[in-house]
Amino acid sequence: MKIHEYQAKGLFREYGIPTPDGQAVRTADEAVAAAEAMGLPVVLKAQVHVGGRGKAGGVKVVTKQEDVGPTAEKILGLTIKDLPVRQLLVTPAADIAKEVYLSILIDRGARKAVFIGCADGGVEIEVTAKEAPEKILRLEVPAAHLATAKGLEFHNFTAKLFSHADQAAQAADIMAKMARLFVEKDCSLVEINPLIVDGKGKVVALDAKVLLDDNALFRHPELVALRDMDSEDADELNAKEEGLSFIRLDGSIGCMVNGAGLAMATMDTIKHFGGDPANFLDVGGSSNPKKVVTAFKMILKDPNVKVILINIFGGITRCDDIARGILASLEEFEVPVPIIVRLIGTNEAEGRALLEGTELISAATLEQGATKAARIGGTA
Ligand code: GDP
Ligand code: MN
Repeated sequence: MKIHEYQAKGLFREYGIPTPDGQAVRTADEAVAAAEAMGLPVVLKAQVHVGGRGKAGGVKVVTKQEDVGPTAEKILGLTIKDLPVRQLLVTPAADIAKEVYLSILIDRGARKAVFIGCADGGVEIEVTAKEAPEKILRLEVPAAHLATAKGLEFHNFTAKLFSHADQAAQAADIMAKMARLFVEKDCSLVEINPLIVDGKGKVVALDAKVLLDDNALFRHPELVALRDMDSEDADELNAKEEGLSFIRLDGSIGCMVNGAGLAMATMDTIKHFGGDPANFLDVGGSSNPKKVVTAFKMILKDPNVKVILINIFGGITRCDDIARGILASLEEFEVPVPIIVRLIGTNEAEGRALLEGTELISAATLEQGATKAARIGGTA
């Protein structure tokens, strides 16, 4: 789960990581009032779940009170990488003497948490990683040690990022706090870009990005409350509420599959035969005809879908229940695209019998289904 910068900075404060004050607002008037209370100059920052806001015009330093309203208005009117800006963070502007990159994340390969640092911060780290990979520093930390790590342990690392010993010490202390936040809140990423040295030589987190592990959210009701429904794909959220896993993709073949592994295999097979999936959709293990109806609605919302491939491997899921769901959908609304069905496993004979006489295209194997879907859906 993604959270906004202002919320991530709230967590930083909770853990003692220095970061400027700020106030999140939804209107230009609120921005004007917040700036007046804070004193100029301020920075107005778009709160959207994407990086590179600065480049997109979503981060503006404002030096005069009369400019706050119009600038806020402008940023609130932006759409950054498809996401409309609905909130701003108003924060006192800092003097920047130096910008550094610092993050902690999971390295799946190493099965460890790893700190990433780069003395050239502020810019997109992916660009540096590609153009000057030698500038990226790594430090692996054993998971069991993260929550209790002390700042002193990180001095060697931060000494490579900051030339002043005092600043390196501040940054090392910040690393220990990031590690504790990372573990205690079950984060998959804590990123500060830029971590700055301000005009007084103080090391401060000027930006904040925190990703939370969805699978651990049940342990953190206070974090669930931070979810911004406005900023997430409405269909994907809706699917979650209905017990489906749905991820939108760019292709033309709508997929309805039971089980995440089979859904992945189905997408791979479609690709193998030259097609392009429009979505990942796992209807889950239980058989409930209603889920199929919801799944259809979700898939059909996407105007790019030219054909639907239903691939069910009956186990706990019963093929006849899936067939009933398909029939209920066809009764409830018109499905304007061809539907290819492959049903095998528990109650497959009953399922096939139920679908007899409909216009559905049946496929005996996944290869057959994927080939037909690719032919109708067209190649990518
Ligand atoms: P991002 O582009 O979404 O990563 O947003 P950031 O918060 O990282 O801001 C982008 C850039 O704007 C930073 O690297 C800084 O150069 C600049 N910036 C952000 N906040 C301030 C500030 O308080 N003062 C000054 N002078 N520049 C700032
Ligand atoms: Mn940034």
